[in-house]
Amino acid sequence: MAVTSQRLAHQVALVTGASSGIGAAVARALAAAGAAVAVNYSGHPEGADAVVRDIEAAGGRAFSMRADVSREDEVQALFAETVQRYGTVHILVANAGIQQDAKFVDMTLAQWQKVLDVNLTGQFLCAREAAREFLRRGPQPDISKATGKIICMSSVHEVIPWAGHVNYAASKGGVMLLMKSMAQELAAHRIRVNGIGPGAIATPINEEARDTPEEVESLLRLIPYGRVGQPEDIGQVAAWLASDEADYITGTTLFADGGMLLYPGFESGG
Ligand code: NAD
Repeated sequence: MAVTSQRLAHQVALVTGASSGIGAAVARALAAAGAAVAVNYSGHPEGADAVVRDIEAAGGRAFSMRADVSREDEVQALFAETVQRYGTVHILVANAGIQQDAKFVDMTLAQWQKVLDVNLTGQFLCAREAAREFLRRGPQPDISKATGKIICMSSVHEVIPWAGHVNYAASKGGVMLLMKSMAQELAAHRIRVNGIGPGAIATPINEEARDTPEEVESLLRLIPYGRVGQPEDIGQVAAWLASDEADYITGTTLFADGGMLLYPGFESGG
């Protein structure tokens, strides 16, 4: 496909936590749609480097960079490097996220704090840097109708309570109102801010919950559509939501969950 016919052509995207799972699929999908992509990771570089190699092999542009999204200085360095290499940023997918599960009464302050730091403060720091860059650069209507697009990776757990995971559910509930409040504040600048709410997607974050056939079966009972999601399901959603085809969408979470939010327990009348 010619680059000019791609819906994210001439745009620059930054994807956090893109060395694995959903973030890796999002980075690949945005690149396939024509964006140059900054592939962020926090631990080992191998996963991020593999994503960069795949993108380059397909004719796209990408580079990888380590940064802990919960660290202000590292987030600022990540954006500065991206702007230096590619000129600006048009799309942020704030995807990095972790789980540290424990029964409520056993949860340590460190477990609570770590998940909030990465999942919520990390999104604040990245989104703030992105909005600052969008405002600095100003509109580029030949490239995109919106001055910038921020996509917060949330979860069905921004609305579904989750016993044993109160830190995670609280972080995603926080992401939802962070996203909506930013959308309200930034809309006048033509900056669109949205969330994606995945259901159960097969990635390393939930490997342990899919160890045995029994666990998979009990997971499938929560998914009316009858299959566990794949990272690519979310990559496609992100590429569309970032594009001008979604230009009138701001301040909302797009759930991609195979119907998990349809209260499947009530399927047979409750
Ligand atoms: P994953 O473990 O495969 O990926 C998480 C990514 O975040 C990794 O690349 C990891 O290196 C990165 N990361 C962790 N801490 C970081 C930090 N401090 N700074 C920068 N990067 C950091 O898991 P995933 O399932 O792909 O999760 C991606 C996002 O999707 C998370 O926000 C998660 O909450 C969300 N999500 C996942 C599911 C699911 O079922 N897999 C469902 C709903 C929401």
